[in-house]
Amino acid sequence: MSGWSGKSVLVTGGGSGLGRAMAQRFAAEGAAVVVLGRREEPLLESVALIERAGGRGFAVTCDVRDPEQVQAAIAFTADRAGRLDVLVNNAAGNFICPSEQLSPNGFKSVVDIVLNGGFNCSRFAFEHLRRVRGVILNIVATYAWLAEPGVVHSAAAKAGLLAMTRTLAAEWGQFGIRVNAVAPGPIHTEGTDKNLWVAPELEQAMVRGIPLGRIGQPSDVAEAALWLCGEQAAWVSGTCLTVDGGQWLSGGVYNFRTAYERFAGKG
Ligand code: NAP
Repeated sequence: MSGWSGKSVLVTGGGSGLGRAMAQRFAAEGAAVVVLGRREEPLLESVALIERAGGRGFAVTCDVRDPEQVQAAIAFTADRAGRLDVLVNNAAGNFICPSEQLSPNGFKSVVDIVLNGGFNCSRFAFEHLRRVRGVILNIVATYAWLAEPGVVHSAAAKAGLLAMTRTLAAEWGQFGIRVNAVAPGPIHTEGTDKNLWVAPELEQAMVRGIPLGRIGQPSDVAEAALWLCGEQAAWVSGTCLTVDGGQWLSGGVYNFRTAYERFAGKG
């Protein structure tokens, strides 16, 4: 029996992309997994994939920006799975827009999902996590500490989430709760394909800047998440594991520069 059997994991944004891949990976190890998002259909698809592979999955619709909905979703998770061992704050929104054209509402809505949503989930998961000496994993991005023209809203939100990772690790360590982050590099998903990789030539340029010579796969992130949340990482807290093929070592990412310049009328 694996160390995950009898445990439960809540993945926000678990109906697509990296969230779905992480949910499937935890479920494959024997954890009961609850996927959370606003749209029911993709969540049910994630559950069907988990069940088809022999796992236990549940779906809960919830907007992480709304504290009452979050409270109810966490109660649902604890009820269905009996407990809550791991919270993965993965839900996010993003789009490319030059900062001088970005509306205050556009900025606010991304910060609301990523940062306020991450806090809402962590806050209401706390009592459950404390009971089992659980884990929080926050999904950030390398531009939280580097730079990425055209996504100031997301960069600011992810930087906040990274700060929250370290602060909560320091504050909740006394309860045995570990808090870490993963910063993925570029990976094709529903969200990135629709909103970020708008220029086809972008991918080749990106790959040239990645020492390991390829863009990522959702499974790259899922494996890192599984390790960071598992017993093997029992003495790891407050850290951010970058999973990007070494891309960040170039000192600046600029994944979306072509798209940004085109959008801004400079391309
Ligand atoms: P994605 O496919 O767009 O997934 C985002 C998920 O968040 C969706 O399932 C979405 O579902 C959910 N979501 C959005 N707003 C929400 C809200 N208000 N309440 C609850 N759920 C909400 O994107 P992804 O590429 O898998 O990204 C996953 C995470 O990795 C994100 O945190 C992203 O910033 C990070 N990341 C990704 C990459 C990459 O290249 N893929 C790189 C660096 C970091 P609904 O719309 O149904 O709510």
